[in-house]
Amino acid sequence: MDIITHATAGAVAGVALSGPMRLSPVIILTGIAGALLPDIDAVSLWSGFDKYMAPSMGIDKPGWGIYFSKYWYSHRGFFHSIAAAALFTLAVHMIVCFRRLPFIRLYRIPSAFFTAYSTHLYLDYHTPGYVWGGINLFWPMNRYSGGTGRVWWWNNYDIFLILLFTLAILLFSFAVKARLRTKYSASIRFIICAACLSFITFQIYSRSFRYDYKNFRKEYIKLEERSVYEQKRILPAPLFNVMKKFDSLLPVNF
Ligand SMILES: [Zn+2]
Repeated sequence: MDIITHATAGAVAGVALSGPMRLSPVIILTGIAGALLPDIDAVSLWSGFDKYMAPSMGIDKPGWGIYFSKYWYSHRGFFHSIAAAALFTLAVHMIVCFRRLPFIRLYRIPSAFFTAYSTHLYLDYHTPGYVWGGINLFWPMNRYSGGTGRVWWWNNYDIFLILLFTLAILLFSFAVKARLRTKYSASIRFIICAACLSFITFQIYSRSFRYDYKNFRKEYIKLEERSVYEQKRILPAPLFNVMKKFDSLLPVNF
């Protein structure tokens, strides 16, 4: 899944767990960081990886080879696992304790991080298997899960819009807190997030097409076009055009 959708999911997790009454930029940023961290394993595709990083890490394999392989540090390996989510959450928790941040953040920051990290795994689970066959969700076991190709790598405007809408509602819930202060605000936010997850799951499983492929050269372009067509089918024309325009302005795949 693309970096913008992942970051938005992380922001939703951060805002939802920010409360109870005030938004916390630290928690929101932690959420965004947690949602983006799993793709740190794509660093082997960086042009400077072979020259700078690999020698210092004692790696003698080319970056592109690592990326498309199944080493624990390859793309979709350890970093896309529940174990990594738990270990990094533990690290975040230790940092929070060490920094002696206020008690309220003691559990909210790691919670936001873990939830956001999990959203990344959930969204990637449904992307094409390609050479990996999914994500190594249960590392250190060697079995790869998901890779069902229910969604394309990007062009999932509908999922992004659901997340954006959820984010707007959650932010609004903080804006009206002074007048409508309620002890149920945390429960209401939980229900909003559950509805968001359900709606996204519905969208994923109601796709009319599977994007799995093995031959990059023969199939990739057609599938990419098909993913745009799918959005054209799902979204109202004016909204699709806005999203397409927004997409064309971005320097990254979206
Ligand atoms: Zn990923």
